[in-house]
Amino acid sequence: KQRIFSGMQPTHDSLTIGNYIGALQQWVALQDSYEALYCVVDLHALTVHPDPAVLRERTRRTAAQYLAGGVDPERSILLVQSHVPEHTELAWLLSCQTGFGEASRMTQFKDKAARQGTEGTTVGLFTYPVLMAADILLYDAALVPVGEDQRQHLELSRDLAERLNTRFGEGTAVVPDAHIVRDVAKIYDLQEPTAKMSKSEAGKGSLLLLEDVKRAAKKIKSAVTDADETYGVRFDPAEKPGISNLLTIFSAVTGRGVDEIAAEYDGRGYGHLKVDLADAVVAFLEPFQQRANDYLEDPAELDAVLADGAERARAIARPVLDRIKDRFGLLPAR
Ligand code: ATP
Ligand code: MG
Repeated sequence: KQRIFSGMQPTHDSLTIGNYIGALQQWVALQDSYEALYCVVDLHALTVHPDPAVLRERTRRTAAQYLAGGVDPERSILLVQSHVPEHTELAWLLSCQTGFGEASRMTQFKDKAARQGTEGTTVGLFTYPVLMAADILLYDAALVPVGEDQRQHLELSRDLAERLNTRFGEGTAVVPDAHIVRDVAKIYDLQEPTAKMSKSEAGKGSLLLLEDVKRAAKKIKSAVTDADETYGVRFDPAEKPGISNLLTIFSAVTGRGVDEIAAEYDGRGYGHLKVDLADAVVAFLEPFQQRANDYLEDPAELDAVLADGAERARAIARPVLDRIKDRFGLLPAR
């Protein structure tokens, strides 16, 4: 079986429905055909300066949401990034292979640095994509399921893997492919349907998986739709970003096709669509929240799952890192 790796940052108490549709749902679909590693990337979350107690809590909550969303720890490896120190060790090796200019071109860094200001922006935020490349290359991952916003970082991971193979010989690293599913890879903010929905910037337009379901329903009903006099309901992201986004969410939470849903509501006005979508979202969230809470009520069991995941992950990571270090010419310890 080929291997896949993916992760999310514990930067909020709850994931968004964008994280679910763009990533988690894909993870679950892929876990039978691949040897999958799904990671809570807590070291990445340090780039936004979390309070220590809050970070600990969010790390468990993120893991509980992976499980609630259908990640099966029997079939997949569920791990916390900081439990496997090889991630940071490989990150250093890769940082010495990454051009400063190359890293400077990363648009996520430019966006996040602009928000954090010169004082708040750390070297860690700058080298974030290098750590992400290490996360992936450490497991010889062939495929990385992510949302559209991670495309550029994935390109860097590929470039680094190819560079390693050129400089240190074929077989030094596996070149990973991005798995980005068109049409669901970018869920938009409900209040600003041209901006990505995100969890660390979560406002009224971010639908959170663990939020009060009444509030979630309200967010759907007050979603910004298009100032289109014809009231047509069709999937057309360029002309109708708001409606198209709602159709994507509707399809993801019900399993029905986008076109089928659009046909049902076309000509009936946006209100009907929103009311029914709000109901569908609540019907999806209630059992999800129940499952997540079950895991959170038993942190000992959750921690045992994570300990097991870390052990299985390290067993894969250690020989890969040793291989790369050897290729770099680092003298083996004996
Ligand atoms: P943050 O604001 O902290 O960066 P985030 O919502 O962007 O949070 P990440 O932890 O950075 O979440 O990303 C986790 C995964 O979710 C990645 O694969 C990312 O591409 C995907 N993802 C994030 N936002 C969306 C979205 N709006 N639509 C689809 N996929 C998304
Ligand atoms: Mg993000």
